Amino acid sequence: MLTSIAGASVIVTGASKGIGKGIARVFASKGAKVLVVARHEDAGNATVEEIRKAGGNATFCKGDVSSWDDMQAMAQAAADTHGGVDILCSNAGIFPSAKLLEMSVDDWDQVLNVNLRGSFLAVKACVPHMQKRGKGRIILTSSITGPITGFPGWSHYGASKAGQLGFIRTAAIELAKHNITINAVMPGNIMTEGLADLGEEYLRTMSESIPLKRLGSVEDIAHAALFFASEEAGYITGQTIVVDGGQILPESLEALEEA
Ligand code: NAP
Repeated sequence: MLTSIAGASVIVTGASKGIGKGIARVFASKGAKVLVVARHEDAGNATVEEIRKAGGNATFCKGDVSSWDDMQAMAQAAADTHGGVDILCSNAGIFPSAKLLEMSVDDWDQVLNVNLRGSFLAVKACVPHMQKRGKGRIILTSSITGPITGFPGWSHYGASKAGQLGFIRTAAIELAKHNITINAVMPGNIMTEGLADLGEEYLRTMSESIPLKRLGSVEDIAHAALFFASEEAGYITGQTIVVDGGQILPESLEALEEA
């Protein structure tokens, strides 16, 4: 059993759907006060309602992670509503597909702005509040795509996700003196609304290429984030954990078939 995070103030960006919603639900079920952050109010408020109905404590905060003003307002909202910021789960991300030669400069900028700049802005806004507490935990949702693997159409996405890991390695050194750790979860293919949009064929072939023969659940990622947020993980910083059902392991299709 990990030490309880009950009462901790947690911000989860991109928490209206998918992995972020899973993180918000799991952290709230452990007694944390969760600030649910997303751009669309209806979905965000629906997540908050779901958490409250299950007995949890959650509040919605409308915000775009690519806006510095919004990220500052987000951190302040957690301080005002939940008494401070203990844990940031920087999870919001987008994964539109565009092959390199058809990719516009705007396509590139949009993905980097949300996924990489958005992580930087969320962290930068929350750290002063964590300094007031004398401690903090930051968990980014990266990906296997970029840091380890590639997939046609996602060169911008892969760059943003690998960039997040470069970011945490230096941030971890700078934040250590404030007793703040920063780590990243690297999901494989996790069944979310965003992944469902990629179509049946994508989901089928992905499931088949995973040794554990299923797509991941949002709870699979939330539990890894919960570990990084725990007291017990206090000596781990600048590190990553792959949660992918073994997807990165087979060297070829035969490696899977022969098993
Ligand atoms: P999703 O189902 O599409 O949900 C994305 C969430 O992010 C939504 O709550 C969305 O809400 C929010 N969001 C998007 N742009 C935002 C912005 N500019 N500002 C604030 N919130 C924003 O996606 P997901 O599959 O859960 O993915 C979540 C994270 O996991 C992403 O970082 C993704 O790269 C990573 N990941 C996912 C998988 C996977 O298999 N699903 C694998 C590896 C990594 P609004 O639209 O209302 O803002």
